[in-house]
Amino acid sequence: MEDENLYLELLNKRDIQPTAIRLLVLKAMMQAGRSVSLLDLEDLLDTVDKSTIYRTLTLFLSHHLVHSIDDGTGSFKYAVCHASCSCEVNDLHTHFHCVRCNHTFCFTNIPTPIVKLPDGFTLSSINYVLKGLCPECAAKEDSRR
Ligand SMILES: [Zn+2]
Ligand SMILES: [Zn+2]
Ligand SMILES: [Zn+2]
Repeated sequence: MEDENLYLELLNKRDIQPTAIRLLVLKAMMQAGRSVSLLDLEDLLDTVDKSTIYRTLTLFLSHHLVHSIDDGTGSFKYAVCHASCSCEVNDLHTHFHCVRCNHTFCFTNIPTPIVKLPDGFTLSSINYVLKGLCPECAAKEDSRR
């Protein structure tokens, strides 16, 4: 029940009318503990219609409840934003894509590095994705040696 209130609060904070489906999608995303693709969400919520999931995700994105990550795999991943995020350049953090398990992680406490741009260029977004092995996959790699 406590959890339920947390999700309600998150939706309220972002001016999203809470519905059963929206609560369900948000809950699945938070419980996943990592970023999810649309396909992951469809798997997690196999009772929910695909277009409903997509519409909910689009709504979440436009209200900055979640952010999208282009990790270079061709399918976007989505993760819940932290409470004070407004998805502006100053809010952006580092992402890590594990090339073995294909999971993409949010390093919310590692901001993207600031790059000084030449005169005349205006920054609107940064896509900063590091690639390598996550701890789980690195451990498997070690045990194989
Ligand atoms: Zn955000
Ligand atoms: Zn991995
Ligand atoms: Zn993130």
